[in-house]
Amino acid sequence: SAVMEKILRRRSLQLLDQQQAWKESEEGEKMQRFRKSLPSYKERDALLKTISRNQVVVITGETGCGKTTQIPQYILEAEIEAGCGSNCRIICTQPRRISAMAVSERVAAERGENLGESVGYRVRLEGIKGRDTRLLFCTTGILLRRLLVDRNLKGVSHVIVDEIHERGMNEDFLLIVLKELLPRRPELRLILMSATLNADQFSSYFGGVPMVHIPGFTYPVRTYFLEDILEMTGYRLTPSNQTDDYGQDKSWKKQTLRKRKSQIAFVVEDALEVANLKEYSSQTQNSLSCWNPDSIGFNLIENVLCHLCNNEKPGAVLVFMTGWDDINSLKDQLQAHPLLGDPSRVLLLVCHGSMASSEQRLIFDKPEDGVRKIVLSTNIAETSITIDDVVFVIDCGKAKETSYDALNNTPCLLPSWISKAAAGQRRGRAGRVQPGECFCLYPKCVYDAFADNQLPELLRTPLQSICLQIKSLKLGSISDFLSRALQSPKLLSVQNAIEYLKIIGALDEEEKLTILGRHLSMLPVEPKLGKMLIMGAIFNCLDPILTVVAGLSVRDPFLMPIDKKDLAEQAKSQFAARDYSDHLAIIRAYEGWKDAEREQSGYDYCWKNFLSAPTLKAIDSLRKEFFSLLKDIGLVDDDPNVYNGWSNDGDLIRAVICTGLYPGICSVVNKETSISLKTMEDGRVLLYSNSVNGRESNIPYPWLVFNEKIKVNSVFLRDSTAISDSVLLLFGGKFSCGEVDGHLKMLGGYLEFFMKPSLAETYMNLKRELEQLIQS
Ligand code: ADP
Ligand code: MG
Repeated sequence: SAVMEKILRRRSLQLLDQQQAWKESEEGEKMQRFRKSLPSYKERDALLKTISRNQVVVITGETGCGKTTQIPQYILEAEIEAGCGSNCRIICTQPRRISAMAVSERVAAERGENLGESVGYRVRLEGIKGRDTRLLFCTTGILLRRLLVDRNLKGVSHVIVDEIHERGMNEDFLLIVLKELLPRRPELRLILMSATLNADQFSSYFGGVPMVHIPGFTYPVRTYFLEDILEMTGYRLTPSNQTDDYGQDKSWKKQTLRKRKSQIAFVVEDALEVANLKEYSSQTQNSLSCWNPDSIGFNLIENVLCHLCNNEKPGAVLVFMTGWDDINSLKDQLQAHPLLGDPSRVLLLVCHGSMASSEQRLIFDKPEDGVRKIVLSTNIAETSITIDDVVFVIDCGKAKETSYDALNNTPCLLPSWISKAAAGQRRGRAGRVQPGECFCLYPKCVYDAFADNQLPELLRTPLQSICLQIKSLKLGSISDFLSRALQSPKLLSVQNAIEYLKIIGALDEEEKLTILGRHLSMLPVEPKLGKMLIMGAIFNCLDPILTVVAGLSVRDPFLMPIDKKDLAEQAKSQFAARDYSDHLAIIRAYEGWKDAEREQSGYDYCWKNFLSAPTLKAIDSLRKEFFSLLKDIGLVDDDPNVYNGWSNDGDLIRAVICTGLYPGICSVVNKETSISLKTMEDGRVLLYSNSVNGRESNIPYPWLVFNEKIKVNSVFLRDSTAISDSVLLLFGGKFSCGEVDGHLKMLGGYLEFFMKPSLAETYMNLKRELEQLIQS
């Protein structure tokens, strides 16, 4: 170890020399100048001093002041200069993979290095890290996973948790774990970084630790609300009875197809309606529910963009949209526009969490002179990614956010209003390099009704995965542990999650982790998908199940363009071929694409069948990842003939899908012209029309298992597979013999509820037989 020490010390010195040379090079000097111009640089020494004297420090500062890229570097540089570089191992967590990758790349570039030298990154599926890597950017999920096998974070000298103001579930969870780890690792340093000022809560959570604020400078940003925008872009109110095709239907989908003229009338009318309601705006509910920004349509955004391109000074435009779907549809629309779609005048880019890293780099590039950069983004560009040349921001005011209705145990995914804090962040993005402008596509009175801050994620999502993790990290009772969070979730949410984990057999009655539970906690997917993977391996139909699970964890590969929805739905139903299963459709679509890829016609195939090639590629690489994970756990035989022995058996695949998705089941009753679907908790439910079953008028199976139900107005089921009685009896629920009783009781409850007496009888017989079997 003395030899080792010597080698490490020598490497540190080499690194120091290398850095010196870089700083003296022309490019390095330029970079140094840039780094020194950031507001964080002035606080460098104070920061380092506070960090060395305190185990926990909270650092706040405006977005863009240099927290993420600079502070980890300051620590690294100081440690190397002090000659302890070899002992320094810094982990900096990011809530999203895209920021972990972008930031590590940036920091390496600032140091004149390649990724994998002193700086690296690690996210699910990807990572670059070398033997000498001392500063690792990773997702919060990756650090949590590491804690599974390395409870004390051996060898780590600094943990930096970034973007804690977002109050993501993983970050809140990590803070509880780290708080308990600190006494065991007195030399470990914990640094918390937050963009907003209300950081007191973090300091007091750790017992009143010091806070350092980095004063920043931002230019003023002028804000326009909807009423100003309408005036500026010259909209006139056209009374609705004078426009030809402006109908009663206010639904947004149909709106997008309407002519612009009628749409503008619609927008203006709505805006005025809201404006007239101004006096009520103190009654939050009132003004928020009557104003529906979806009806704004893309045309208004298009108009503002044209206005900027024609009238305004140079500068990039950042458009905040609700989600991936919207971004893609708007991009298509803009590309068809004579001005905005002209690449010699506009550089149109997108920015969202699941884009490829090559795509990501483009958003930081400067466009040529005379070309205006327009970036359509999700709220990811709100705080974690800084695009330098933004001068104009367009804010739709909403973000897609998961919420969780604990009472009905139903997750909801709805575009919902952002908070005042988030709106301020979005606005601030315009004032980083010069005075900027922000266009809010909502009236001022709606803004006034926004909540101050967003609810922490822990309080608005189902807790199944997190509960499993608490158990596998041996952190004691789930509800005790969660009660130590910054803000604890509702008891009912916790109970629902525990109950669910018991139903699927991941926890036993005493809340102890079962063998299945332990395996599930090692797989980086939701418990239900993990269970499907494990069962797919056990029942030797691995290939198709890998595809289903990868498909469900990436996103739907089937595209549903609004204007070609019918054709797209038809294309999808061909893949289901009377199977009554969205999951089998994914398998067929993927396999067809693989065949086409082998003949170099993958893109043609996707185009013809309304499939997304990037999504299929993502599914493809995720499948490989899952496969090697299962192999590591020891569940996969070496011989493909074994683990794929039953891969062509549709009924078995259905059964394995059922083991994963149970208790997500609903009963099917075929009426004369329609189908009636019911779940136990929700009563009547509906299918999304892009489910292959949503197009059927008769489903010759008594049950559907579904992946996800979402409450919009009614409860909708997404992706379902039809199954028979016997599949439900044999594959729904737990698999371990000791639990048979509880499982059967549960199933019995379902059968009674859905009034299937003959089935109940079969089931009683089965129960008796099984009990005898177990006794013997
Ligand atoms: P903070 O974490 O405080 O929001 P960052 O450390 O992310 O700030 O960014 C500091 C500055 O570094 C930004 O203002 C931006 O100018 C620059 N920067 C960050 N990432 C990149 C990048 N990938 N390319 C170019 N400049 C970048
Ligand atoms: Mg940052």
